[in-house]
Amino acid sequence: MKKKSPKITLRGSFHGKMLLLSVLPLLCLAILVGCVSVATFSNTMHKQMEEELNSQCHMVKELYDSLYPGDFSLRVDDNESYSLYKGNVDITNANRLLDCIHNSYGVEVSIFCKDLCVATTMTDSDGNRATLTHATPIIVEDVQKFHMESFYDDVLLNDQKYFASYIPIMNSDFEVFGMFGIYRLSSVVDQRAKAAVMPIVLLCILATFIIGFISIEYSNHLIRRLTVIQRFMRALASGRFDQELPYSAFQHKDELGDLAESGKTMQQSLRQLVEFDALTKLNNRRSGDQKLKGICERARQYGSSYCVGICDIDFFKKVNDTYGHDAGDEVLRRVAKTLKTHIMGKRGFVARWGGEEFLLIFADGDLASATRILEETLDAIRALEIRYQDQCIKVTMSFGLVNADTEACEDAMLKAADELLYDCKENGRNQIRTKDLSKQTEKDS
Ligand code: GH3
Ligand code: MG
Ligand code: MG
Repeated sequence: MKKKSPKITLRGSFHGKMLLLSVLPLLCLAILVGCVSVATFSNTMHKQMEEELNSQCHMVKELYDSLYPGDFSLRVDDNESYSLYKGNVDITNANRLLDCIHNSYGVEVSIFCKDLCVATTMTDSDGNRATLTHATPIIVEDVQKFHMESFYDDVLLNDQKYFASYIPIMNSDFEVFGMFGIYRLSSVVDQRAKAAVMPIVLLCILATFIIGFISIEYSNHLIRRLTVIQRFMRALASGRFDQELPYSAFQHKDELGDLAESGKTMQQSLRQLVEFDALTKLNNRRSGDQKLKGICERARQYGSSYCVGICDIDFFKKVNDTYGHDAGDEVLRRVAKTLKTHIMGKRGFVARWGGEEFLLIFADGDLASATRILEETLDAIRALEIRYQDQCIKVTMSFGLVNADTEACEDAMLKAADELLYDCKENGRNQIRTKDLSKQTEKDS
């Protein structure tokens, strides 16, 4: 029964594994490079932002000190409205400096008295300056209690996230008046980060595609070569030795080329073992049978005719008995060689049918020309002087030969040829008997 080859799924196949091995690590690498670039870039941006906002805070403080010498103070009148002073100057409505910084650097600036915002560039939803709002206690504590310059990357103001930097405002008596705060929208920074990282990510994706494409192409090339060898091996496994490996399988001198060479050698060795007889080096009965079936099939298909014969060495048992089994083997070898020389190549085929018996096939249905070839062959056998250990052995052979029309089955032809051979043996051996099965007439020679 023909064995079914196991079904190979994409996941289990070499193709699938090659795809997985080449594209998956690349994809992981691309994602990793993308993530690391984003993280590194955003870290750098944060540091840069911290330095930038801190220095801007100091710049605002210097500007106020140089324009309005003296300390900050907040005066509240009876109506509970406040006035912001720097030295002796009322700067409550002197916002030009703050607006100028806002316009030049694209940042928001606020001045706090303790936690209360007393001047700012920020506006509320009505467009008014968002003063009298309170700073987050934790920021106030960091900056004013511990006198620390502080940077925050997630300050929420008016429902928007900001980077913010604060520095404390100290008066000449070392009392903390409040703090300066400078803010930049996080989304602006994020957009800058995205714009910088995007080319890296795109490059990674492109590289993944290019390397993935090359890997897939190369694995496809390997798989095509493997498939050719696989098909060849399957043919060998199912006993078909007539398959030829295409040139592409040997083309490359690599491991697969080596595998193809080994496959070819294996085919030759198996063919030798399965199709040929070890002693005579002729085709064996199995391949003779196949050849006969094949020629019969072709005859039926194309209406061609052919000849089949059986021949046998006369008194071979006597040869064995007289000269020994090894001498018998040598006789078999020499007879086989003579048959091969005279019959093969003339559209004839010889196989060892068993013991000292041989099958003959002529692809040409012309009985007369096949008979002529056999006559020459018999003459050559008669003339053989087989030397074995200083002894000269001579043998003769008997032949039964038939031809047939397209309808004859191979068994009937073999039986007819065998009967003719029997006739030869009964009537003195060392002769050829033929029968034209298409005319059902018998001739002797
Ligand atoms: P006939 O003319 O009627 O064919 O007589 P024969 O002696 O040739 O036929 P028979 O069938 O009596 O004997 C065939 C012998 O061939 C018997 C067997 O031992 C011998 N034989 C078969 N195969 C081999 C082989 O491979 N080597 C040797 N040396 N002898 C073999
Ligand atoms: Mg015999
Ligand atoms: Mg015999």
